[in-house]
Amino acid sequence: MKFELPILPYEIDALEPYISKKTMEYHYGKHHQTYVANLNNLIAETKFENAELETIIMQSEGPLLNNAAQVWNHTFYFMALNRSNKSLPHGAIAGAIQRGFGTFMDFKDTFTKAGVGLFGCGWVWLVKNQNGQLEIIQEINAGNPLRKGLTPIMTCDVWEHAYYLDYQNRRLDYINAFWNIVDWNVIEKRFTQLS
Ligand code: MN
Repeated sequence: MKFELPILPYEIDALEPYISKKTMEYHYGKHHQTYVANLNNLIAETKFENAELETIIMQSEGPLLNNAAQVWNHTFYFMALNRSNKSLPHGAIAGAIQRGFGTFMDFKDTFTKAGVGLFGCGWVWLVKNQNGQLEIIQEINAGNPLRKGLTPIMTCDVWEHAYYLDYQNRRLDYINAFWNIVDWNVIEKRFTQLS
C-alpha cells in the first residue's frame, strides 16, 4: 500500500490566528508529507509493503516505527482541529471527562501541564485504558499509545515544529491556543465509537 498525505477537512489558513497558515504549510505540507514519503520508501519491498498503518506501528522498530507513528499521530492531530466547531466537549465525552478529571477546567489544566512539562519533543494524549477509563499520558518523540494497548482519543503535538513559527519557545501559549481549535465533534465520535 502506498500511503498518502490525508486531505484536510479545512482550508490551510482555517486555524488562524491560533495556528498560522505558514505553520500549516510547514507542519502539514512539509513535515507530515516527509513522514509519509519516508514511510513509503521504508516499506518498499519489505513484508510491510501492503500492511495497514496500525500493523506497521505494532510490529516495527527503529526508523520505520518512527515514521509510521509520525504519519498516524499527525493525521490524528490534524483531523481533530477545526475553528468552526464548538470549543467545549459535549455528549458522552463531556461526561467521561467529568468522571475522570473533575471539571472541564481541571481536565484542561492537567492536559496543558502534561504538554508543557514534556521534556523535548513529543505528544500529549487523552487515551482510554483497558478498564475504560480516560487517562492523560505523555509520549516522547514519535510515541504512540497503541503500542501500550491504549486507545487514543485526542492528541496535541508538542514538537517545536508545531508551534515555533507562531509562538517561538512559548509552548504554553501554543497549548492555550490549541484549546480554541479542538474539534469536539471528532473527539466525541472517536469516543462513542469505542464505548
Ligand atoms: Mn508535528
